[in-house]
Amino acid sequence: MSRGNGWLGERSVDDKFLRLAELIKGSKRCVVLTGAGVSTESGIPDFRSPGSGLWTKVDPMFMLSDTAFRTNPVDFYKFIRDMVGVFLEAEPNDCHRSIAELEAEGYIKAVITQNIDGLHRRAGSKRILEVHGNTEGGRCIECGKTFPMDSMLQDIQEGKLPPKCDECGTVIKPNIVLFEDPLPFDFVLAREEASKCDLFIVIGSSLQVAPVCYLPTMSRRYVIINLQPTPYDSNAELVICEKAGVVMKKVKDLIFSA
Ligand code: NAD
Repeated sequence: MSRGNGWLGERSVDDKFLRLAELIKGSKRCVVLTGAGVSTESGIPDFRSPGSGLWTKVDPMFMLSDTAFRTNPVDFYKFIRDMVGVFLEAEPNDCHRSIAELEAEGYIKAVITQNIDGLHRRAGSKRILEVHGNTEGGRCIECGKTFPMDSMLQDIQEGKLPPKCDECGTVIKPNIVLFEDPLPFDFVLAREEASKCDLFIVIGSSLQVAPVCYLPTMSRRYVIINLQPTPYDSNAELVICEKAGVVMKKVKDLIFSA
């Protein structure tokens, strides 16, 4: 069980970096959960930080819902086009890269991500559980034929809105887990990872989206790295309110230099 974050109350940020490096080195099975906050340093706004441009034009909770997809697929796909455009221009940052390097050296066993921007994969992470899906492609809702995002974007570019299946003519649904959709099998695997790990690190998530927000409480102990407080801070082993890229690069350097 977590012993709370009393240890760190009075500690400096450098002490916290050292403590996290120790925790990771001392763990047998460390798993990471990331949210939109790990990608803000790559230029992709999150949902809940103040003034997040991309999402202020529309209500993302509605626009990324199954209702929006079914009732207004044209506007839904215009939003997807703009969102994927932002993702494609972004590059992985120090946080994505440090996680991938720590995984390559065996310190991190899995990355559970709520993100759909593909930056963990592009940074080189291997075991990625995408609990909210991804923007790599889509599937015909009638016959199940799959399509890469490239060809869907090409259709949108040519004014074929929404993109439709070239076999049966039915609308293609992107591989994103929309609000109102059930969670994918990756969430079952994520629950298993949370319960069998001995260190669970949440990075850049407000922990307000259920049921993913319950994952830390399924672990033996968890650490939170986030710029703003979360509802789960009080039971965390350690809370670091600093930028994800700064923290993870520093901690990775401390581990590799030891
Ligand atoms: P959220 O927007 O609710 O919370 C992000 C948190 O990250 C905030 O509390 C913020 O304080 C913190 N943060 C922002 N920049 C940070 C940084 N540099 N370092 C540390 N912390 C930082 O995001 P969520 O919890 O992931 O939930 C929102 C949902 O929206 C998720 O399903 C997510 O997948 C989706 N989403 C995804 C993307 C993406 O794929 N990049 C972007 C926006 C939203």
